[in-house]
Amino acid sequence: MAKFCKNCGTLMSDDEKVCPYCGASKHGSKVPTTSVERSGAIKGRLVAFCIAAAVVALGLVYFLLMR
Ligand SMILES: [Zn+2]
Repeated sequence: MAKFCKNCGTLMSDDEKVCPYCGASKHGSKVPTTSVERSGAIKGRLVAFCIAAAVVALGLVYFLLMR
């Protein structure tokens, strides 16, 4: 029975021990660099969200004060 790579979603046949695309093993052990990149991406997204929230808050304050 074919399975999908838990790391990247590539279709893997049963006799393949590691993903042919990203090299992750079938049992879900991740390539270290990939997990680091992923947590970094999440952190970057969080920072972007905080900046967006700050800009919206500042815009709201500006709008209320300038009325
Ligand atoms: Zn993979």
